[in-house]
Amino acid sequence: MSHPRKIGILGDLHSNLSALEAVLSLLDLEGVTDIYCVGDVVGYGPRPNEVVELIRSRSVQAVAGNHDWALLGRIDSSYFNPYALKALEWTKRQLTRENREYLESLPLRIDEPDFCIFHGALPDPEAFNYLQSFPAARDSLADFQAPVGFCGHTHVPMNFIQKPGKSELEWHFLENWRLLEGERAVVNVGSVGQPRDENPLAPVAVYHCETMEMRLLRTHYNIPSEQKLIRRAGLPSILGDRLQHGI
Ligand code: ZN
Repeated sequence: MSHPRKIGILGDLHSNLSALEAVLSLLDLEGVTDIYCVGDVVGYGPRPNEVVELIRSRSVQAVAGNHDWALLGRIDSSYFNPYALKALEWTKRQLTRENREYLESLPLRIDEPDFCIFHGALPDPEAFNYLQSFPAARDSLADFQAPVGFCGHTHVPMNFIQKPGKSELEWHFLENWRLLEGERAVVNVGSVGQPRDENPLAPVAVYHCETMEMRLLRTHYNIPSEQKLIRRAGLPSILGDRLQHGI
């Protein structure tokens, strides 16, 4: 008999080591069996190598996000805002070859019987579309088999729930919920490294595969220390300022 799985899901880490350490401590207290990341490991923040090395050492199973792919030159980054672009160029210079190779190895989606992991939206994960509308949620739900899919990209936690026999989806911002038999969901877990839902605390999702129960936890972390490192690295100061407001 397989043991019950309780997984932790991290989103959009963006080279913010203090926030990553804080959410990993929270997951340790929760006693999760596995940890997944919905992508955007790097970009914006001051410690790309440390963040990559920590998720590797913790055997976090990650998919690639648009910032990871932009760094590898796999997508056009000319649509990035000037701050993101500056951080991207800086990150390219900092990242070790080994850590770059790690990013190169990341898949665009992970399909498990109990859940699916991707960055933006399905069915075309390489397009990195935003999942923030009913049509996008419906298209994504139609493209994976599992009861629940976890994504990121918008940095705003939210859920779309599909009830059996109903064509309309439910959309909500609840942080604790449980799927009933026959229900399915697509869940944005928010951003660990740069939250944009006006809550500066770092979010992390915990999901029980058996009971289909999800909780979104939030934790404080040392924002002033990240801000100092952002300034010291010569990265745009707005990337640090926004952290304390969660915008
Ligand atoms: Zn992101």
